Amino acid sequence: MSVITSRRWADLSWQAIRDLPKEPGVVVLPIGAIEQHGPHLPVWTDALLAERLSARAFELLAPDTQALLLPTLSYGKSNEHTGYPGTIALSAATLMALLRDIAVAVSRSGFTRLLFINTHGGNKALLEMMCRDLRAELGLLCFLASGSADTSMLPALEKRFGIHANTAETSMLLHLTPELVGPLPAAHYPDFSSPTFNLTTQPQVGWLTRDWSPDGHFGDPSAATPEAGATWFGEMAASLAAQIAEASSFSVAHG
Ligand SMILES: [Zn+2]
Repeated sequence: MSVITSRRWADLSWQAIRDLPKEPGVVVLPIGAIEQHGPHLPVWTDALLAERLSARAFELLAPDTQALLLPTLSYGKSNEHTGYPGTIALSAATLMALLRDIAVAVSRSGFTRLLFINTHGGNKALLEMMCRDLRAELGLLCFLASGSADTSMLPALEKRFGIHANTAETSMLLHLTPELVGPLPAAHYPDFSSPTFNLTTQPQVGWLTRDWSPDGHFGDPSAATPEAGATWFGEMAASLAAQIAEASSFSVAHG
């Protein structure tokens, strides 16, 4: 019988999970989305990125970092992309209940820290809220991580409005799964009615993608390259590995 050294939750027996050291340590849940990603990317894009970035981040962890990777939650809160066939959106209530059930199980298994790795912007506000709710209700220390990469070389318009199926996302898909990427469409940016308005100024608006993008993308897919995608993917995975390591030994003064 071999000794299992996997850091993947699903690979382990219940006894192995019971016997794992829990302190320090963090359980990681990748979460993405199944939603339209323009005419050129698969609806799997965010879930694929959550899965691959998390797997790569775990490969980059130091051997003594205690972390366990849950299976990816592929579905998310994607109702900003309703109206495009292929989008499968969980309601906020469903996603909150699902995350709570997973967190209860993680806590009952003896773990004290849970980190969400999120690749879909539409999940962010809900995950921030759940981190606090789960801390208050279960005592779990909960964290939210999304990878960061140096995109300072991108044009100003892309940095400001390229938020979906954009140059960066398209590049990473060209790197990871070029066989799933279709012909690259031209850039499309939202044409706002006010020159000073953007997606983050006040008052914020509860926008839908179809308000501004008939084809479903915000940004310039035509500028994507697999080489840039490989660089950004590597930088994001490295930043996630650093965040997993930090979370694994994070503590509060009066917990
Ligand atoms: Zn995306």
